[in-house]
Amino acid sequence: MRVLKFGGSSLATAERFLKVAEIIKDKSSVSAVAIVVSAPQGVTNHLVAMAENISDETKLNADLSSFKRAIDTIIDDLSASLPAFNRHHADQALAHWENKLRQYLQGAGMLSYCPEHIRALIISMGERLSVAILSSVLQTKTDEVSIIEPESFLHTNNVSLNAVADLVLCKEKFQSNYENLSNIAVMPGFIGVDGNEQVTTLGRNGSDYSAAVLAVCAQAECCEIWTDVDGVYNADPRVIKEATLLDYLSYQEAMELSYFGASVLHPKTIGPIAQYHIPCLIKNTGNPQAPGTLIANENSQEKKVKAISNLNNLTMVNVSGPGMKGMVGMASRVFATMSRENISLILISQSSSEYCISFSIYTADAAQAEMSLKEEFELELLNALLEPISLTNELSIVSLVGDGMHHQRGVAAKFFSSLAQARVNVVAIAQDSSERSISVVIEQRKCTDAMKVSHQNFFSHKQTIDVFLIGCGVVGSELIAQIHRQQPTLKSKTFHSKFTV
Ligand code: ADP
Ligand code: ASP
Ligand code: MG
Repeated sequence: MRVLKFGGSSLATAERFLKVAEIIKDKSSVSAVAIVVSAPQGVTNHLVAMAENISDETKLNADLSSFKRAIDTIIDDLSASLPAFNRHHADQALAHWENKLRQYLQGAGMLSYCPEHIRALIISMGERLSVAILSSVLQTKTDEVSIIEPESFLHTNNVSLNAVADLVLCKEKFQSNYENLSNIAVMPGFIGVDGNEQVTTLGRNGSDYSAAVLAVCAQAECCEIWTDVDGVYNADPRVIKEATLLDYLSYQEAMELSYFGASVLHPKTIGPIAQYHIPCLIKNTGNPQAPGTLIANENSQEKKVKAISNLNNLTMVNVSGPGMKGMVGMASRVFATMSRENISLILISQSSSEYCISFSIYTADAAQAEMSLKEEFELELLNALLEPISLTNELSIVSLVGDGMHHQRGVAAKFFSSLAQARVNVVAIAQDSSERSISVVIEQRKCTDAMKVSHQNFFSHKQTIDVFLIGCGVVGSELIAQIHRQQPTLKSKTFHSKFTV
């Protein structure tokens, strides 16, 4: 059995649904497959916006129409291109979920507030619709299709919007509910169920994690994540055009990379598959022949930095003051406060004088963090044992990742000189003791520069030279024309010449 997960980018249009069905059909001729699907691209964003704007009728209606239009278009296009497509089934599913959606929105509207467990029900509807549409497409090709309901086995903690699975319970429930699965089984990703039988969601982008949990429960031989790129690159290909594809990553490397922003994989995905030694393959739905990136158990042997990643929209919180020094339990109170509020800390640093603890969190959590720290340390703040809690917004983390960085001298020096070269000021630094990653916190507006220069210095042998011409008269214009004419010659000499005026 293999688990195949298709992300929103693989399900954005009717054409992509057909492509996905082809891949599933192909794979299912070799072994049984369990399919995990995300919502079609963009649909979850509309649902999230609806749950956030319940009192703004205009905005709510606009998002509701965009949501319906996105699904309708896929259904219309599938019925046009696939005569055997069971349109009725897909339409019925849309009507059913749309009706539920209106009920939830109405209820929340009456309360002028959308409780988190209702929000989870709302934002997970895109996945339900993907299952209805994909299973209707698959039924035109085979009658071996069944549905896996996440509520029947994917048990999580009681955190409605960023839940964590209880793997032992999930395995137990799965084995008792799905002893005999059909050759093709389809499951909506992103969804779990808590101890009170309420639906939870696994965090934005969380269908990757659903696939990992299902792979563990079904004892899959491989967990395949199908997306819109050929695999994991040594930097985000949207930011770095010269990023190169990696054919192999260890679990640890993949975990660090996804944790520090490589959105190709949700950070919670690797935990379960690493624990059960299940290999993970990242594949491109648009290019199934490409071998993809394998993520598995062996540490990478190459003695080098493997990749660079960036994470944006962060806030740095500083708790400092004379009261921090030598006082047992101050750090633990800071972190306990964050944990109580369910705020995850991305990076922590502490000055050796113990005067200051700084940590990075998502900016979305900043207001809550500030309020709860002020409450927790009310007395210390009043008595000037602590300085006012300070927050700095619009920050990013840039991280270098690689098993082979271990005991490699000069990596940090090269990283910091790259940042200096890019004129980037470093706000904070962290390195884990396994030396598998080094991270710096910097201003977000400088993030792309930092990524570009660091990528170039670590991975590229090409040099970029910026040429500025000031006051382009006759001579300058002729020089520009000459450079234009020289493009083919420059390229043939392995120069990578990108000329823009
Ligand atoms: P899906 O819809 O399949 O879940 P995502 O958008 O969540 O797709 O993830 C795929 C995207 O991740 C790619 O399009 C790419 O821009 C981005 N990405 C970020 N970092 C990396 C990286 N290091 N390697 C590959 N892709 C990356
Ligand atoms: N649809 C959800 C999201 O957009 C989950 C996922 O795509 O993995 O976050
Ligand atoms: Mg994704």
